[in-house]
Amino acid sequence: EGRAPLKPFSDVKEMVDKLSILFHKMSLDLGEKFDMLVEMDTLDLDTRKGKAPGGYQYYLQKSRVPFIFMNAAGLQGDLETMIHEAGHAFHSMYCGHLELIGERSYPIEFAEVASMSMELMTQEQWGEFYGPEEVNRARLGHLEGVIFLLPWIATIDSFQHWIYSNPEHTREERKFAWNAIRDRFGSNMDWGDYKIHRDTSWQQQGHLFGVPFYYVEYGIAQLGALQLWRTQRKDPGKALSDYSNGMTLGNTKTLPELFSAADIELGFGEEHLSSLIKEVRVAMAELD
Ligand SMILES: [Zn+2]
Repeated sequence: EGRAPLKPFSDVKEMVDKLSILFHKMSLDLGEKFDMLVEMDTLDLDTRKGKAPGGYQYYLQKSRVPFIFMNAAGLQGDLETMIHEAGHAFHSMYCGHLELIGERSYPIEFAEVASMSMELMTQEQWGEFYGPEEVNRARLGHLEGVIFLLPWIATIDSFQHWIYSNPEHTREERKFAWNAIRDRFGSNMDWGDYKIHRDTSWQQQGHLFGVPFYYVEYGIAQLGALQLWRTQRKDPGKALSDYSNGMTLGNTKTLPELFSAADIELGFGEEHLSSLIKEVRVAMAELD
């Protein structure tokens, strides 16, 4: 029998109040930025009948205020989504002083550094929502998700390259190619009688249908986010100033320049990746 799901909050007001405390504990700057979202009343967070699904942050260019939309139902995933979208909102606020609309934007790979690093960097404060045992469970689950996501992104990206390089492929060939790519990047999970679902498991990734080649960005960003989080584990103050140094530039610099501004490396080498995953393993061992 599985454990009951984690319940970080019972209603949206509780989530917002506790997040305000959480962000103030991280820094006055983030705390005040979060409170501004609440004061400007640009949060639509509650799930309700007839509301569109999903979650996103959208910058209102005329008033220069971020708007956050989501469907919170009291689960850990909802808390992570809200923190993720708050990261996007902070990014928008950091570059909101720039003159042109095009400048007050950001490359998508860097947008997700802002949101994914905020998920990781708030982890230390998740005790605001949980007792000591549950907080470790929540943090471990999140770190496991980080490890799961990177090879999954590689799988989806590699599959897309195969699909578009082989436009005449048959269903049989596609199934074979997909399973070979899953073998290359995936785990040795025993699918037993459910192999037929493995054959079609690419269909669960909606990006393949709606936004071709948009998915690898999350991997590029996660590598940046992990580096900011690693900096935070040594020096929390430096991590937050690296964060704001990168985000303040908006769309006025190239992706490599934005990474350097945040004092993180835009790299995909084996040594670089394994040092980051090693750090995740160390953090997981501390919580276990
Ligand atoms: Zn995002």
